[in-house]
Amino acid sequence: MSSFKLLRSLSKKVWSGRGTPEEHGIKGDAHEPKDVQAVNLMREALFQKGELPEDLNDFHTLLRFLRMRGYDVLKAKDSFLKCLKWREEFGVYKLAKEFEFEEYGEVQRSYPHGFHGVDKCGRPVYIERIGALDLETLLQKTTLDRLVKHHVCQQEKTSHLRFPACTITANKKIASITAIIDVTGVGTSSFSKPARYLFTEFHKIDSNYYPETLSCLFIVNAGSGFRILWKLIKTFIDARTSAKIQVLGNDFKSKLVEAIDPSNLPDFLGGECKCPDHGGCMFSDKGPWNDPSILELLQTVEAKDEDKHTTVEDVWFSAQSTPDNRNEQTSKERANITLSQKFDRLQVTAAITEQKIRAVEAAVEETKQVLQKLSRQINDIINHNKD
Ligand SMILES: [Zn+2]
Repeated sequence: MSSFKLLRSLSKKVWSGRGTPEEHGIKGDAHEPKDVQAVNLMREALFQKGELPEDLNDFHTLLRFLRMRGYDVLKAKDSFLKCLKWREEFGVYKLAKEFEFEEYGEVQRSYPHGFHGVDKCGRPVYIERIGALDLETLLQKTTLDRLVKHHVCQQEKTSHLRFPACTITANKKIASITAIIDVTGVGTSSFSKPARYLFTEFHKIDSNYYPETLSCLFIVNAGSGFRILWKLIKTFIDARTSAKIQVLGNDFKSKLVEAIDPSNLPDFLGGECKCPDHGGCMFSDKGPWNDPSILELLQTVEAKDEDKHTTVEDVWFSAQSTPDNRNEQTSKERANITLSQKFDRLQVTAAITEQKIRAVEAAVEETKQVLQKLSRQINDIINHNKD
């Protein structure tokens, strides 16, 4: 075999040798060839300019931007770079590390919202009782600016803690949420100027910087007033998002339990959960991301990463863990390793492997470029000698 052919063959092997998630031990996440090809092209474009931060060099993160822009690599790259710029300007890393939302308890009383459990596929469930929003009282307890910061911190927690924890528990890649918005009493006159500003900001941040993380959205208790408002809102929502939304009246329970087990649904949505120890479901942030054994496993993943750098996961473990998490993680509970926890440990080995593979992928991208350059040079020499 000529040197040129050998290099081409090697390059091809290196380029395609990334393995499937099944080979890494995470089930049900086979990458479509179309997705792999588009992500590779996007990585290549970002690597050339040195604009791919290690902590965001994640297959699913890049794929989300590609899906958002209809698989147009240049447009997806442009959106990704705008996101990086926003993260820098907004100070996302610093915010996640330092922001403390002390007024959380008070805010929940006039704007009940938050994560509660998982759906039947293992995705985090987000619930918002927008019909219970009391903006006047809310703005006595906090400011619009702090609510936006809190929203960004929660998005970071979802990306860097809730999704990894759900991935371990479900034993398959989880990178999207199921949401329920209760619009009891909401109509065309429900939204004052500050409320419109707030929800427009949330929508802008979510759609531009955390795209394609919504699996499905149930809007429940929609009355005639909301249905008129919905026709207006719909004009601002893209068709892809719109297709994920179901607007339901007060007979929503059967639809919700198709997607979410009653044990993960609060009683006010027809489920069985009341979270009495937390003062109600909207105060609990219930989910595998609060399970001490899962948190310990995720910390193990971080600790085992030889090229460890400060990530948002570290930040959440050290600065943003809720007091409940810290209380729950007693030495007695840590010592009480059940069979199920041992099984979880086996699962996390797969997650560790996946992380390492990702690091190798980054090196492979660079190697591929060097090999391609080298093969071109060899080709030039061969052609030159022929002449
Ligand atoms: Zn509950």
